[in-house]
Amino acid sequence: MRIETKCVQSGYKPENGQPRVLPIVQSTTFKYDSAGDMGALFDLSADGFFYTRLANPTVDAVEKKIADLEGGVLAVMTASGQAASTYSILNICKAGDHVVCSAAIYGGTFNLFNKTLRDLGIDFTFVSPEITAEELDAAFKPNTKCVFGETISNPSLDVLDIELFANAAHAHGVPLIVDNTFATPANCRPFEFGADIVAHSTTKYMDGHACALGGVVVDSGNFDWEASGKFPMLTTPDESYHGVTYTKAFGRAAYAVKMRAHIMRDIGAMQSPQNAFLLNIGLETLCLRMERHCANGMAVAQYLESRMKDGKITWVNYPGLPSYKNADLVSKYLPHGSCGVISFGVAGGREGAVRFMEGLKLAAIVTHVADARTCVLHPASTTHRQLSDRELIECGVTPDLIRFSVGIENAADIIEDIESALAQI
Ligand SMILES: *Cc1c(COP(=O)(O)O)cnc(C)c1O
Repeated sequence: MRIETKCVQSGYKPENGQPRVLPIVQSTTFKYDSAGDMGALFDLSADGFFYTRLANPTVDAVEKKIADLEGGVLAVMTASGQAASTYSILNICKAGDHVVCSAAIYGGTFNLFNKTLRDLGIDFTFVSPEITAEELDAAFKPNTKCVFGETISNPSLDVLDIELFANAAHAHGVPLIVDNTFATPANCRPFEFGADIVAHSTTKYMDGHACALGGVVVDSGNFDWEASGKFPMLTTPDESYHGVTYTKAFGRAAYAVKMRAHIMRDIGAMQSPQNAFLLNIGLETLCLRMERHCANGMAVAQYLESRMKDGKITWVNYPGLPSYKNADLVSKYLPHGSCGVISFGVAGGREGAVRFMEGLKLAAIVTHVADARTCVLHPASTTHRQLSDRELIECGVTPDLIRFSVGIENAADIIEDIESALAQI
């Protein structure tokens, strides 16, 4: 099936007489006739559900759909994108380990890594997304366990050279984890370029309607966990789980099964069946919506660029504009479009940015991005306000940066809204 069809058809397969639409299985527990039946589930030797923290039929169906959309073997859905990023690292890193990470990442992920996970003893080296292969190679240490980056970074809109980062990771025997939130599998499937694990905040385009927080981690099944000897947590018996050796028992799905059996069991940031149901409805229209987001994004970006002539707009950054700094990466990784998010600077710096935002009527000031309704945010005074100026610049965020998330309304209405707000500055 092609991706548009998978969005609609994958995951839930009703049998004769069952509901056509994915049901919400609002139950924490599942009944069995014998202790033996349930024991087999605990041993991971039988398929089935016993406790919703570990697996639930509604969540399971949506996990199958997302795994299919990304071209992976197994997915684990989480309560939020933050939980997905946390799990993707904790599944293979512990105190004393090290991660190479692109500096162009979401501010929340940066804090999670640079503060919370660092406090737990995991070390991070942040590298420029525009790093050369030689410089990237030099960032690895003997204790490096993975590499992390974002396909299109939020909010700086850097496009990750997935192949470059994957090759470097593989040369050091470790996987590349890619946060694919902004591109979505409709526009880029990082596994096709060598990434090994994909993470998402499904809160954004995948849900698409700003209804439900959620995250997901997808395992490509392609990484050889045994080759380097660096992943004993996957290749030797897990005494906390009946001595199972994940690579032996689950082969290509070792990473994802371990995430569920170990990290989800212990930390428990599962996605609720209700949210999975809402996410699934969003996923049905993902490809349709992404087409419109990209078409509107391009129209608005071109309009903004046209306003650089009268000085109201100082710069425009949109992957897809001919002026985009890495047009070659866009044509390689995002040939069908990037996303609906544009960043730009308004005349008057930090103050001008705030005044412009307050002049908008259709575009709402919200702490959200990437949903059906056009919205706008000033990261330096909101999402990224806890970062120092130096950290801001490292994340690719300047004080005058406006993050404009173009929705699926008529582009002419969005442009008229911008026009009247610009008239006020
Ligand atoms: C929003 C976002 C996250 C965090 O996701 P939540 O669902 O808000 O926890 C992670 N990565 C990226 C790229 C995001 O945009």
